[in-house]
Amino acid sequence: MYKGIAGSEGIGIGKVVLIEEHEINVETKTVTDTDAEIARLQNAIEKFVTDTNNMADRMDETVGKKDADILRGHIQMLQDPMIEEQISALVISEKITAEMAVDQVLEQTAEMFSQIPDELLQQRATDFRDIKTRMLKILMGIEDVDISQVPPGTVLVARDLTPSMTAGINPDNIAGILTEVGGRTSHSAILARAMEIPAVLSIDNICSIVKNGDAVVLDGTSGEAIVNPDEETVAKFEEMYKTFQEEKAMLKAYAGQPSETKDGTKVELVCNIGKPEDAKKAVECDGEGIGLFRTEFLFMDRDSLPTEEEQFEAYKSVAETMKGKPVIIRTIDIGGDKEIPYLGLEKEDNPFLGFRAIRFCLKRRDIYETQLRALVRASAFGKIKIMVPLVTCIDELRQVKAMVADIMKEYDAQGVEYNKNIEIGVMMETPAACVIADILAKEAAFFSIGTNDLTGYTMAVDRGNAKVAYLYSTYNPAVLRSIKRIIECGKKEGIMVGMCGEAAADPKLIPLLLAFGLDEFSVSATSVLKTRKTISDCDVEECKALAEKVMACVTEEEVLEILK
Ligand code: PEP
Ligand code: MG
Repeated sequence: MYKGIAGSEGIGIGKVVLIEEHEINVETKTVTDTDAEIARLQNAIEKFVTDTNNMADRMDETVGKKDADILRGHIQMLQDPMIEEQISALVISEKITAEMAVDQVLEQTAEMFSQIPDELLQQRATDFRDIKTRMLKILMGIEDVDISQVPPGTVLVARDLTPSMTAGINPDNIAGILTEVGGRTSHSAILARAMEIPAVLSIDNICSIVKNGDAVVLDGTSGEAIVNPDEETVAKFEEMYKTFQEEKAMLKAYAGQPSETKDGTKVELVCNIGKPEDAKKAVECDGEGIGLFRTEFLFMDRDSLPTEEEQFEAYKSVAETMKGKPVIIRTIDIGGDKEIPYLGLEKEDNPFLGFRAIRFCLKRRDIYETQLRALVRASAFGKIKIMVPLVTCIDELRQVKAMVADIMKEYDAQGVEYNKNIEIGVMMETPAACVIADILAKEAAFFSIGTNDLTGYTMAVDRGNAKVAYLYSTYNPAVLRSIKRIIECGKKEGIMVGMCGEAAADPKLIPLLLAFGLDEFSVSATSVLKTRKTISDCDVEECKALAEKVMACVTEEEVLEILK
């Protein structure tokens, strides 16, 4: 049995499909037979055309015609006489490999488009880089596993799960996910939970342990996986799978019910999302709004920054999908475990303590202002609130408010519509923010506690490091006291206090959070009904008595003993 981190609950039974990572290094090489090289180039272009058409046809069904047509456009871009002839001419004149010529011509073209100050033309740069990568893979014989085409009952095994991999996943065919890296709050875990796929993460060397086609069973709740299990184990997992599905069906009874305790205390039960499309899932799962939209996903898996217009459309679409219900949009939180290669940020020794989130945004005002402009404009279409991540001092909040005020002034002069009372709140996720919560509460419109980071920073533990994972616990008295203090400080100033870290969905912690007076619980869409059930089973007076006992505990073990 292999033990990892419980990333996404559920039981998975299936066969391994291994996703290997390939590096694309174009070697500097000359050729003698340029005719043969041109023939190789032509074959690659033909394969590119066939593959692209096939992919686009499939996308017509799965993602829609608009995205499929963008892909079809790649064929015309590559076969544009200027481009194709330039590549062939370079092979002949320089006697270089087709790979080198493709790399040079398409990169130069992308670079040229990226310099043009027109949003639509800049998007072409992304398209050309995409074409380049796919052409190079064809020429080098690098076969990517097409995740969208894996058979039902597949257990994906990869070093890590990137957002672009997840874009191709058809959840009906994926029985489970195993990875070598990532913790419960890593983005791979969050994505797996959003798709309701059981996942066990951070299993040492799992990519070397399994082979394609191996049988696997996994338990995403306990974080265990067994490769090539015996019959008895398979039978046990089949039984566990059945029980899990039955419990899920039972939770359906909570759909459409109010989110309130037994004794009638109402709370808001909202969702965390990463992509605008996830808002639909939030509505389907009966979420009462969005408590955290992690906007950095709009910046990932592409080659250039999203434009103001693209961002505006994304924020507007979420606001409209939620039909006037609250939508808290967190401004970009990049750095740490969220890398954006095209920004060319320097490698840091301590990325989690470095140039991240609001620190990055206040230095790169060009990027931040574009986001704030899009957000303010989108606020005309619903109840958008702006949330600032990783705040450690009041000045950061003040600077964001000043930037928003300037944008509003400009919009007033131009007659652009927006919500003049847009709320600007703070994500409470650092010990510094907790210590000055009384100060922040006087100037923030709301708080949302990010327990994923708050736990890590309070306990001085790296979120994804399995060796110190034992310390990464929200049940630790240090973390519980921090949460209690933040809620108390927020309540004292009469502002809404929510929680968007994973702890908000933890049935063991929910009674404590209710006792402290938390107003809003923001959880993944798939956890809404379970969280509502837990809340409905609670009585606030009983929770307060429990909280008193818990807060008198001096160790995590004592806390857990009571909460069990
Ligand atoms: C958190 O830190 O609790 C949080 C919700 O944000 P993220 O996981 O994106 O850092
Ligand atoms: Mg965080």
